[in-house]
Amino acid sequence: MLFDTHCHLDAKQFENKINEVVDNAKKNNVKKILIPAIKPGLPKVKIKNVFLATGSHPYHSNETLKNKQKIIDGLKDAVAIGETGLDFFKCPIGKKVQIESLEFQCELATKNNMPIILHERESFIELIEIIKKYPGITGVFHAFHHSEKELKQIIDLNFYVGLGGMVTYKSNDALRSAIKKGPMERFILETDSPYLPPQNKRGQVNQPANLLDIAKHISLIKNKTLDDISLITTENANRLFKL
Ligand SMILES: [Zn+2]
Repeated sequence: MLFDTHCHLDAKQFENKINEVVDNAKKNNVKKILIPAIKPGLPKVKIKNVFLATGSHPYHSNETLKNKQKIIDGLKDAVAIGETGLDFFKCPIGKKVQIESLEFQCELATKNNMPIILHERESFIELIEIIKKYPGITGVFHAFHHSEKELKQIIDLNFYVGLGGMVTYKSNDALRSAIKKGPMERFILETDSPYLPPQNKRGQVNQPANLLDIAKHISLIKNKTLDDISLITTENANRLFKL
């Protein structure tokens, strides 16, 4: 059984077809899904074995502080905080506001002893420095796309590593080499649907069923069976999200 730990089932691409998408995932052995929040609060989806995170994405970080209560109200139905993090690539919101939003969510995670889901683009060093200020915090660096050195820093921080479609992209040899050497007990799988489809589905709307392609890729990289990869990554995710 596979667990898609990062899937935006509430995205407009899945409007009116969420049940179909979840059924298709099940047919491909993807039996648990976690939806991280984009807009402040909790994603509005209620389906068995679909779990939620409460939080606010860096792209909505200018709305975080005035919607604190919405995020806090989501805690009782959430298994994680996020997705939060930093995006210094093309995000129109300034660094200061992004950092305020991130720090609020780190405090929430620490206070409630909940894992945090981190988004990171062109901001790895800054993000690591902020996370270090919160002893005892854990969670996942989602859509990991770096090399061995960054992987080690994440492991040393007691965080998990979210692996998705980027593992399958031709140019990402350094990423595959990091995964090959990295500790299996810290890897969890994700599609980031509807974004980042695996190489063989590029140009399509990504969906959780495609997690099977990602798992197959990792089984080749790690030289383990698909069953082993499924079992270990699902156990890791269950441990992280306390399921
Ligand atoms: Zn996301």
